[in-house]
Amino acid sequence: MKLSFFGANHQVTGSRTLLEWNEGRFLLVDDGMIQGHTDYETAPLPVAPEQIEYVLLTHAHIDHSGMLPLLVHQGFQGTIYATQETMDLCAIMLADSATIQEKDAAYQTKKNLRVGKEPVEPVYTLEDVEKTMPLFRACPYGQIIDVDEGLSLRFTDAGHLLGSSSVECFLTEQGKTVTMVFSGDVGNTDQPIINDPIPVSAADYVLIESTYGARLHEQAMDPIPYLVQVLRRTFARGGTVIIPSFAVGRTQELLYFFREIKMQNLLPERPDFEVYLDSPLANKATAVFLQCEMACLDEETLAIMNEGENPIWFDGLRTIETVEESQALNWNREPKVIIASSGMCEGGRICHHLKHNIWNAANTILFVGYQANGTLGRIIYDGVKSVKILGEEIHVNAEIDLLKGVSGHADQAGLLRWMDAIGQKPGRVFVNHGDDENCQTLAAKITEEFGIPAEAPWSGSCFDLLRNEWVDMAQPVEKKKEVKQHTPSKNQDYLQLVATAEALLQYAKSLEHHANSEMRHLTKKIAKLIEV
Ligand SMILES: [Zn+2]
Repeated sequence: MKLSFFGANHQVTGSRTLLEWNEGRFLLVDDGMIQGHTDYETAPLPVAPEQIEYVLLTHAHIDHSGMLPLLVHQGFQGTIYATQETMDLCAIMLADSATIQEKDAAYQTKKNLRVGKEPVEPVYTLEDVEKTMPLFRACPYGQIIDVDEGLSLRFTDAGHLLGSSSVECFLTEQGKTVTMVFSGDVGNTDQPIINDPIPVSAADYVLIESTYGARLHEQAMDPIPYLVQVLRRTFARGGTVIIPSFAVGRTQELLYFFREIKMQNLLPERPDFEVYLDSPLANKATAVFLQCEMACLDEETLAIMNEGENPIWFDGLRTIETVEESQALNWNREPKVIIASSGMCEGGRICHHLKHNIWNAANTILFVGYQANGTLGRIIYDGVKSVKILGEEIHVNAEIDLLKGVSGHADQAGLLRWMDAIGQKPGRVFVNHGDDENCQTLAAKITEEFGIPAEAPWSGSCFDLLRNEWVDMAQPVEKKKEVKQHTPSKNQDYLQLVATAEALLQYAKSLEHHANSEMRHLTKKIAKLIEV
């Protein structure tokens, strides 16, 4: 019975942990995408995807779920256990991720072909996502699910995102049962809509996240009065509030806040202000929030729903779907709110809203989440006077602000509270999902507060849960700087052929909703050309 670490070790993204039980049977806990810059290499999985029988998915965020379609593409045929809400959110988030992968690969291929390099394959495609979704099996919170001989599970609300979970794994081998608990991402308390994190009752071992393992959130404050002040100032100037926001989770929280502002008439001078939600992904995610199980929602949200009201919908909310509608907002001079993705301004519709609004001192750019180093969001937040957006240098005259009091992650105190609430304490704790400072600080703090050995293992490490000893303690492997390789030029005629064939494929894909006769006609022509 072995626990091995193959992702989010001394880093914040790419969560992936391998569990072996009954000598040679394997399951994965999360299979996330590595996002942004990382300092260390992630060790490759030592087993082929077809040997893995199950995936336990803690929640839908891409840094936990984002590589599942590739796992399926590479041969995984097992079952993915998650909550219904995680499954519903994955259906839209993985499809969105696949579209980005396909677009990026097509763009890079175009560039490569121009300089004699090979075309680029997307990491995975929409087709891979379509093969992934039927493998999901939805599990309710709080019920023990017997998965296989010697393996049962229970999902508990982690209060981080709709459907997010901690997972208790009950493993029996050689007549001994071990409870291995995976915290998943632990949520902050008093977030709107969703429940506070619910701790588990007992554990032999815990793997805990440490995103904020070394930090404490600022004094808890109510974000609604802050939001009202931002609206009041900006509207008095005749300006618009532009909010870069993550489409899933944070955007729905904002809708909840705006509804409260309207219902409590906190902005009496302009009660009819409009909020434009300009993100097709956010619109789909909002629909998932509206259909979720009652067990996922906190008391305040349930009370609103019991009165027959919708907690994230209000008069004046306008959802934008098409690019044309989105661009038309540039000509709307009314003071208003525009919420668009991406949350760190790295691509997405927010970029054109920034381009058209950041030069104007009447407007406010309101950040509502963490802005990672090097992102456009961080550059703007840090206070530059001028910034390049969509290829154009634009003056920054708008007010730049940050909504305080919103975070989807527990801070160090919250993580320690979650540990403290485990009735029967674990004999050992492993720490992941945090950079060096955060994972090491939390491990030391857990040992100091609870007297439990706690470590932040490096990628590739392996621990025997039955023997309670390390099998392999891997060492860090720092990422090498990318060396640019000279690629010999290809035959120009060959490149032209590949480019034309790719254009043909794009053309065929564009005919999806055309007449069947037109599709059959083209299929015949292509088949004849390649003699199949
Ligand atoms: Zn998360």
